[in-house]
Amino acid sequence: MLNNWDDPFAQFDPSNSNKNNRTPPPHAGDGMVNNDRLMETAGAAPCVAPSPTIRSPASTDNSCIEDAADLSGTGLEGIEMGASRIQVDDKKIINCRADLNQLVPFKYDWAWQKYLDGCANHWMPQEINMTADLALWRDPNGLTEDERTVIKRNLGFFASADSLVANNLVLAVYKHITNPECRQYLLRQSFEEAVHTHAYQYCVESLGLDEGEIFNMYRELPAVARKAEWALPFTQHLADPNFHTGTPENDQTLLRELIAFYVVFEGIFFYVGFTQILSMGRRNKMTGVAEQFQYILRDESMHMNFGIDVINQIKIENPHLWSNGFQQQMIALIRDAVEIETQYARDTMPRGILGLNAPMFEEYLQFIANRRCSQIGLPEQYSGVNNPFPWMSEVLDLKKEKNFFETRVTEYQTGGALSWD
Ligand code: FE
Repeated sequence: MLNNWDDPFAQFDPSNSNKNNRTPPPHAGDGMVNNDRLMETAGAAPCVAPSPTIRSPASTDNSCIEDAADLSGTGLEGIEMGASRIQVDDKKIINCRADLNQLVPFKYDWAWQKYLDGCANHWMPQEINMTADLALWRDPNGLTEDERTVIKRNLGFFASADSLVANNLVLAVYKHITNPECRQYLLRQSFEEAVHTHAYQYCVESLGLDEGEIFNMYRELPAVARKAEWALPFTQHLADPNFHTGTPENDQTLLRELIAFYVVFEGIFFYVGFTQILSMGRRNKMTGVAEQFQYILRDESMHMNFGIDVINQIKIENPHLWSNGFQQQMIALIRDAVEIETQYARDTMPRGILGLNAPMFEEYLQFIANRRCSQIGLPEQYSGVNNPFPWMSEVLDLKKEKNFFETRVTEYQTGGALSWD
């Protein structure tokens, strides 16, 4: 008899007797999974409930440490024995002076829930069978040159892009987010970025590709380099050891750079590549690579939605940051991103493949950009555009997102990890 680690007493509860009849959740290694099923486990967070700006109590003077100011709000300050206990209202997303080493009491339940959802969606690249991909790749007639180009360029872009995101989280963003439950998700997200980089390496290794060619592509091929070049300046500000939040100007810098990474980099720059590779899988080509990308897309969808919740919560707590001028800057940022990603579509598929072509991607990116704008409270920028890839719509479909927390998977676990004899 195997016990369930989550709930070992569930077997004694008659109300759970039909639990075993449920369709098991998708699992890495199942093969290409129906998008509807997979996307049930991704999506957006619920709307952030507005709450009044929270004023934290005055910080405790820690003048015995000369550079205490550099550590305040990091979680690395000296321990203050006997300090009053943390209250929910002490917590803020940025510029919080309350102790960051105490996870509870929770204030931002959506952040904690995403951490739990991320853990429940755990997967590893080696669970996916790449045998058919290798056979197809080796078959001289298996794929066209254009299809091979799309695969290699996307592996090249993503192999360094997820590394860039991970470095941005760990070296730039993390220290400026002063909330333990958000940090808990950032730690989970950082690990997922490592899994994604692993997945690209695993594809390269499985197919016997030239790893030097793939991993250097972001600094050898302009079409791939452009997006990384666009993103790097946004992480460099926050990583500067002399950068500190706490002034309106610097808080806007943080907000802008969160938008650059979560809304643009993960929310726009990933979508041509995802669509190209998933489209290949739908036509039964490179199904292992496509399955890796499906799982990555599900994670990425959650990363982006976490970022959007953080951005919106910072806006609620610091409404002065969201000035008209700042909004115009963010609109310009998003419009630039659509141009850059459209160019990536042209560069990766100059002749069109698999019924896809660059003009379709231009419309798709405008459709996505409209969604991203409305998600962070900006006006939609492109009128009259539709989604030319309705099969990708599960990711972006608002109705689906509303159901996210009702349908989230709690049973998805790696094989055998949560049971024992
Ligand atoms: Fe990500």
